[in-house]
Amino acid sequence: MSNHALENAAKALAKAQCAIAFTGAGISVESGIPPFRGPGGVWSRYDPDKFEKSYFKRHPQEVWPLLKEIFFDMLGKAKPNAAHYALAKLEAEGKLAAVVTQNIDGLHQAAGSRTVYEYHGSTRRMQCLDCREFFDTPSISLDRLPPPCPKCGGLLKPDFVFFSEAIPLDVHMEATALAKQSDLCLIVGTGGQVMPAGRIPYIVKNAGGTIIEINLYESDYSYRTSDYYLEGKAGTLLPMLIEKLSEFQS
Ligand code: NAD
Ligand code: ZN
Repeated sequence: MSNHALENAAKALAKAQCAIAFTGAGISVESGIPPFRGPGGVWSRYDPDKFEKSYFKRHPQEVWPLLKEIFFDMLGKAKPNAAHYALAKLEAEGKLAAVVTQNIDGLHQAAGSRTVYEYHGSTRRMQCLDCREFFDTPSISLDRLPPPCPKCGGLLKPDFVFFSEAIPLDVHMEATALAKQSDLCLIVGTGGQVMPAGRIPYIVKNAGGTIIEINLYESDYSYRTSDYYLEGKAGTLLPMLIEKLSEFQS
């Protein structure tokens, strides 16, 4: 990646009036969370069919230990990295309106980001499938699996989107409305293949906005959608972009 590309991207960000970030699994890789797909990914080791909502409801005894292993033991210990902190800093400085994330790990909030749209839900909450009540994950003991609902004893499900489950409508509507008003989208660490979340950058682009992309490898966005494609690690490039941005701010 040339210094020129970084400089032009920083200039575009300095000019933006309403910028949003759109993030995926890649931003959390440097926090030690593997991507789900591809070699070494979660779905090469676990059977994704077990994380279908109807299968889970029929076999909670079988699925809950897997959920605990992947989503609470592994994701739960992860800490934000330099890329998460960089986005939180951008927001605090008034240069970023929101983060729209496909991740369920809660690391944007842990880094200090305040306006976060979690397109696929979060491991930080659970919902009872019987009484519908929500609970913060740390308040639920996972010593006994499946953990019973504290209110009614019913079946708790982590509040992230399972396969064949609809995405949260309120988040979808709000993130779409925000994307329509945005004049810049900073894409970080996503292949862009999961829909409808993956449409967010296209909404910004179609409304005349600018797209900056940070990824280790070219993605579905890189050729036709991204105005500035910065190739490399999010934890290195995002702090560099912010550093450059300070040179162009009045
Ligand atoms: P993906 O796994 O399809 O793609 C990850 C992308 O990140 C790739 O394009 C890869 O080139 C890039 N990447 C990897 N390491 C990077 C780094 N250090 N810096 C910059 N880019 C890097 O991810 P996706 O597009 O987000 O789709 C996966 C789906 O699975 C999402 O819907 C998400 O909800 C879920 N998921 C969530 C988590 C999490 O919460 N941390 C982890 C894995 C998957
Ligand atoms: Zn309940």
